[in-house]
Amino acid sequence: MTGLLDLAGSPHGGGYMLLPEWDNQPLITARTIIDHSQVGSTDGTFLLFRDRSNLESHFSVRGRRSGARDGRIEQFCSIDREADANLDANRYGVSIETEDDGDPNNQPWTTAQLESLAWLHERLIQLRPTIPRRRSRSCADPAGLGCHTLHGAPSCWTPAAKTCPGRPVRFRQWEDVLLPAFLEGTMPIPDADLDRFEARVRSAIDNRLSSPGTAARIGVLELATRAVASLSDDEAKIVAAVEAASQETIAGLANLAGLIQAVDAGMDPDEVRAAAAQMAEELKAVLPSAFLAALKETL
Ligand SMILES: [Zn+2]
Repeated sequence: MTGLLDLAGSPHGGGYMLLPEWDNQPLITARTIIDHSQVGSTDGTFLLFRDRSNLESHFSVRGRRSGARDGRIEQFCSIDREADANLDANRYGVSIETEDDGDPNNQPWTTAQLESLAWLHERLIQLRPTIPRRRSRSCADPAGLGCHTLHGAPSCWTPAAKTCPGRPVRFRQWEDVLLPAFLEGTMPIPDADLDRFEARVRSAIDNRLSSPGTAARIGVLELATRAVASLSDDEAKIVAAVEAASQETIAGLANLAGLIQAVDAGMDPDEVRAAAAQMAEELKAVLPSAFLAALKETL
């Protein structure tokens, strides 16, 4: 047993990019899987590990920047050997790097990466039953599935303050998609290509709302984007729902503008402030439900 995986069966293929030390580091018993983002490319990380540091990870999963190879898994080290990217967890952790475009806090894992990560987690638990099917609980009880800053940063797994594998976006995907898949032993991956879909939503918004927006308007559009993204992949529906949300916002802003005019007209500023605060609360409450109602009609 070399600790090399047969990656041919993975959803987006795979292969070996073995580091010189891939099979001569100290032996480990794998108990924990730790997901990372590399803030860069698989090829760059491989060269960094090989030439400019004494660190290693076991795997890297390619992403959007690798084009047609998005989701491909590269293995750097034997899973039976220590890889030194996880501080205390080096003695028991199997570490998986993932590609990003330099901003993993905001760039989600692609669908292909999520599929490959879920496949790899499942494969590792089959090959090494010393990894239990559970969430890593703490530094004192670390076995299971984890991600780099799961127990804090700095923590037992990192000496530095960091957000790896990316907060909030990738950490949310880890909790919402990868962890449930691991716990259930399934692959409930979203069908849509989330990256492409988000880009379409954003371009629909840009096209329809080219006039300069206010912060409030942008906030509601973000809300609209998230809600639509969870419900529809039809561009016409997205546009209609975004327009409905923006109408609501414009109506609310018109009311606020009316209040400002009231101050100019000599109304007691304290009264105006109280009315504005109340209106802001009402706006906050009404916008999501008005938006969702509009969306329901559209869909
Ligand atoms: Zn990391």
